[in-house]
Amino acid sequence: MHSIPNLDEDRERLNSIDGIVPNPFELPEGCYFAPRCKHAMARCKKEQPGDYTVGEGHTVKCFLYDEKEGK
Ligand code: SF4
Repeated sequence: MHSIPNLDEDRERLNSIDGIVPNPFELPEGCYFAPRCKHAMARCKKEQPGDYTVGEGHTVKCFLYDEKEGK
């Protein structure tokens, strides 16, 4: 979301996410985004997140939206 350009800002570079996309033949255990996620928890490195509904017709695969995590 931080990479979306804002036409009101005078910037030369857009925000990017540190790290690289994982090799599809050597995917990490747990959430595939965990090595690059600043919100990663211990759980993220062990388990695959399921689908969590965040609105009508919208789901995410992120433990931040699991009721067990307090959201
Ligand atoms: S499940 Fe969510 S918080 Fe955890 S690593 Fe993946 S994207 Fe980040």
